[in-house]
Amino acid sequence: MKVGLYLFENDCRLSDNPALTTLASQVDTLICIYIPNTNLWTARKAQCSPSFAVECYRNQTLNVLHQSLVSQQQKLYMLHDTAQLRALAEIIHAQQVTHIGRAVHPGFDEQKLWGKLQDIFPHIHYVSAHSSTLFEPESLPIEVSELPPSFTPFRKMVEDIEPRLPIATAQLPPRPKQVSGLTEFKVSSSYSIKVAGGEAQAQQQLKQYFETDAALTYKETRNALFGKHFSTRFSPILASGAVSPKQIKQALDQFEQQRGANESTYWIWFELLWREYFHWYALKHQHTLFCFSGVNAKTPKTSFYPERFLKWCQGRTPSALVNAIMHELTKTGWISNRARQIAASYFVNELQLDWRYGAAFFEQHLIDYDVAVNWGNWQYIAGVGADPRGGRHFNITKQQSLFDPDGEYIKLWQGEATPQLDSHDHVGWPLEDK
Ligand SMILES: Cc1cc2nc3c(=O)[nH]c(=O)nc-3n(C[C@H](O)[C@H](O)[C@H](O)COP(=O)(O)OP(=O)(O)OC[C@H]3O[C@@H](n4cnc5c(N)ncnc54)[C@H](O)[C@@H]3O)c2cc1C
Repeated sequence: MKVGLYLFENDCRLSDNPALTTLASQVDTLICIYIPNTNLWTARKAQCSPSFAVECYRNQTLNVLHQSLVSQQQKLYMLHDTAQLRALAEIIHAQQVTHIGRAVHPGFDEQKLWGKLQDIFPHIHYVSAHSSTLFEPESLPIEVSELPPSFTPFRKMVEDIEPRLPIATAQLPPRPKQVSGLTEFKVSSSYSIKVAGGEAQAQQQLKQYFETDAALTYKETRNALFGKHFSTRFSPILASGAVSPKQIKQALDQFEQQRGANESTYWIWFELLWREYFHWYALKHQHTLFCFSGVNAKTPKTSFYPERFLKWCQGRTPSALVNAIMHELTKTGWISNRARQIAASYFVNELQLDWRYGAAFFEQHLIDYDVAVNWGNWQYIAGVGADPRGGRHFNITKQQSLFDPDGEYIKLWQGEATPQLDSHDHVGWPLEDK
């Protein structure tokens, strides 16, 4: 009897999921488990858990995944234990697992967990596949270790390569008659606000976006701070894996065939290639994605000032625009690309803060949190990553006049400026001579 264990992480879908499809074809019974993010940077240094918006979105995504599994006589089980390796080892023993499958994850800690499983259980058959990228390593013209240090040469290498077509929905074998030591997924009533996550919703969202004309003007609108369809909003469904990047590319190709291609439709492809670049970048640079000096070993001249950090997190800085952005982020779990760039540049350049704390705060609050894209973009802005110009410094006044000239966004998100950045510690000051 061949018993399979599939570990869902950032690939919460049954369609175009090559690792799941392969594993399903090799086993007689299958157990499906969801493993929450294991990135330990936030857990250790920032000591915080995912925000309410993130929990709601995850709950919705997992509920849809669970329903899809139930329609195939399956169930989704949860691995809550923080000692994930020990918990998995117990299940492997108890269920006499013979095969384990999962999608390749760009996160360093997630890869370590996978490596350790293979060390401890060398007799098990392992199945993995790249399902969160457009390409597989063998379709790239270079080895991952040869990835260029910046985006443009990578883009030029790959932009004319057609990704392979998405594969059909996996047909799953039944689960074992008895599954012990695991909790079945249950929708949590505490996270019941309506947010559209999950595979079926993702397909619906793709369809709805490409039914509009928005893709034809994407390049002109994508830098906005707010509004309808100014950008695709595919990031949450991509980050959770409710949709694959190949499925998005296929929908984009169909749109171009029916409605015509232009610079804007190309620019959606261009942005998907940025995401792709950061995924290979994370796989290449491993733990240095989280290092203060980044991948270039270039130490920034910033530090950690608790008061400034707290004010940035709470949206109480001297910049009304940054405050509005932080309010939107903490309330909804999503902000536009321009807003992310402004908030991150202000954090690093004006507040002179250690970029990793900003990245960890985004990790905690973004419903589209993606380890490779988030940490890669923060490194880029902090000047320790893939930016050939050595970091980005946005002029906040200029950004405000360009992207919120009438203060509508600031008003919408109540971004009042707080006059003083640092409070003075009078007690500690030297006494004046009398
Ligand atoms: C400091 C910082 C942190 C970020 N953290 C994340 C994150 O955790 N998760 C995440 O998905 N994106 C992150 N981004 C990238 C980008 O801001 C979001 O992907 C984008 O705003 C999501 O909105 P959208 O789907 O409407 O994007 P669109 O503009 O419609 O773009 C389409 C898709 O292209 C990709 N994309 C767009 N911009 C970028 C970019 N700058 N880098 C890489 N891929 C991109 C995304 O997958 C996006 O869904 C971050 C950017 C910055 C500056």
